[in-house]
Amino acid sequence: MDNKLENIRHSCSHLMAAAVKELYPKALPTIGPVIENGFYYDFDFVKTKISDQDLIKIEKKMKELLPKWTSFEKVEMSLAEAKKIYKDNPYKLELIKELSEKKEKITFYESGKFLDLCHGGHSENPSKELKHFKLLSIAGAYWRGNEKNKMLTRIYGTCFENKEELENYLKQLKEAKKRDHRILGPKLNLFIIHKDIGRGLPLLTPKGTVIRNEIIKYERELERENGFEEVWTPHIAKSDLYKRTGHWQHYRDVMYEPFGIDNETYVLKPMNCPHHYMIYSSVQRSYKDLPIRLTEPGTCYRYEKSGELGGLIRVRALTVDDSHILMREDQIDQEFDTCIEMVKKMFKAFGLTDFYVRLSLSDPDDNAKYIADPKVWKEAGNKLEKIVKRNKLKYVTIKGEASFYGPKIDFMVKDAIGREWQMSTLQLDLFMAKKLDLIYISENGSKAYPAILHRGLTGSLERTIGILIEQYEANFPTWLSPVQVSILPISEKVKDYSRKVYEKLFKENIRVEFNSDGEPLGAKIRKAQMEKVPYMIIVGEREEKNNKISVRTRSGKDLGQMDLDKFIQNISQEIDEKKIN
Ligand SMILES: [Zn+2]
Ligand SMILES: [Zn+2]
Repeated sequence: MDNKLENIRHSCSHLMAAAVKELYPKALPTIGPVIENGFYYDFDFVKTKISDQDLIKIEKKMKELLPKWTSFEKVEMSLAEAKKIYKDNPYKLELIKELSEKKEKITFYESGKFLDLCHGGHSENPSKELKHFKLLSIAGAYWRGNEKNKMLTRIYGTCFENKEELENYLKQLKEAKKRDHRILGPKLNLFIIHKDIGRGLPLLTPKGTVIRNEIIKYERELERENGFEEVWTPHIAKSDLYKRTGHWQHYRDVMYEPFGIDNETYVLKPMNCPHHYMIYSSVQRSYKDLPIRLTEPGTCYRYEKSGELGGLIRVRALTVDDSHILMREDQIDQEFDTCIEMVKKMFKAFGLTDFYVRLSLSDPDDNAKYIADPKVWKEAGNKLEKIVKRNKLKYVTIKGEASFYGPKIDFMVKDAIGREWQMSTLQLDLFMAKKLDLIYISENGSKAYPAILHRGLTGSLERTIGILIEQYEANFPTWLSPVQVSILPISEKVKDYSRKVYEKLFKENIRVEFNSDGEPLGAKIRKAQMEKVPYMIIVGEREEKNNKISVRTRSGKDLGQMDLDKFIQNISQEIDEKKIN
């Protein structure tokens, strides 16, 4: 996002806070940052509860105040003065105290008659530039994201430079709402989140598991073609291992609390890498054995703040379609090229063909974040950039977002309504082998360290399922559909014939269901459409007499009568080729 837009949105959060204060003088403003596509502001409304209806009121007040907002004036204050202003607001007092402890200046900005604690970054001409805003929703949010603190009321809004951009965005939001996997998932019985299991821990139902397994099945095909070997590893390990890898130092924030077993300390694994390394080092490897490509759909456990959890996109237990390729230096290019091809094939099968990559490098000014020496980082970064260029990938370079063990390329995918999602990741690690003494015997008989490629083929299976639900509004391509064909007999009279049709499809490994309810055909068709089953086979006496079937699609297209064999041939081909309909 450019700076101007960011400033406009930030300024608009001031305007919203001003309107809230006018309407609810007792409300306590806390913080109001800019976020992707907009801004929010958290308030403690003390005893008042506000609802979506009130947003209209607040918007109206904002419009009323705006003409007087001709500029933002900076006001510097002493700690004592600032404390006086916020004597009734414990949240702002906490922020002021922190600023003064860090010896930072305490600055306020005033616009209209509204004064707010702020570090700056505003619109130059608010009364003109803040016109195209919209308040979007209300949510609960703990003060500072901490569940032990009070639950505040968060109001989300957005602001754009012009009317057209705002309208486009609102249209996209509306479209996104229809596709929201958090609603469609439970509605279509693909996954649930159960309060007794816990937040961020989705349960895949039989139907959702079909999708997951289909993805894994295709990944296995690609991996088999490319010389990968599947492994299985447990979900916990001794914490000492993570101290040796550096996870403990660099990744502790997202790891869960350790626990004891038989006087030793264990943790839930946050990544699969160390487990795979131990398999690698369990036998002596020679330069002729490399590359070793170990792979596993490995479930990892990472702490995500409760405010950031959402359906399948951000979870606390995620399954990475994870591979670690341990290779000689002269094999790095080839292995990356292969993985990039695999990622492209995966995206094609998902119908997600618009993507670019983020080349994430280390930040040379922030060495503490990373292990080992800056020279190797530079070398690894250059190598990755060359690979990205040679593969003609569209890319942007981002400094400071590398993993702690190496630079990476993350694939950013655009979905059907233009939103971006982060999916696959390929990471080059020139450090870990040395750190953990993972070796191979080189051609001249000496000890050498392999380079490591960490590969998440789609990144996270849970996330991928979430993205696919939204991409297709759950109208999955046939190869991914939990139920591919629904058989709808018109009456009891054709029960035997329709059973035969069912059995034949079942034998051909087509996911078929049989609707034997006594309902009229129209109701059966509606049910199959609601469940988004790609094909309906309608069987009546006419079909039985001609030894045929009638076929309809979920979009309502009537494909007419055909031979069952012909239908099986068509649908099998569609599934094999992973056609996007
Ligand atoms: Zn500000
Ligand atoms: Zn890894």
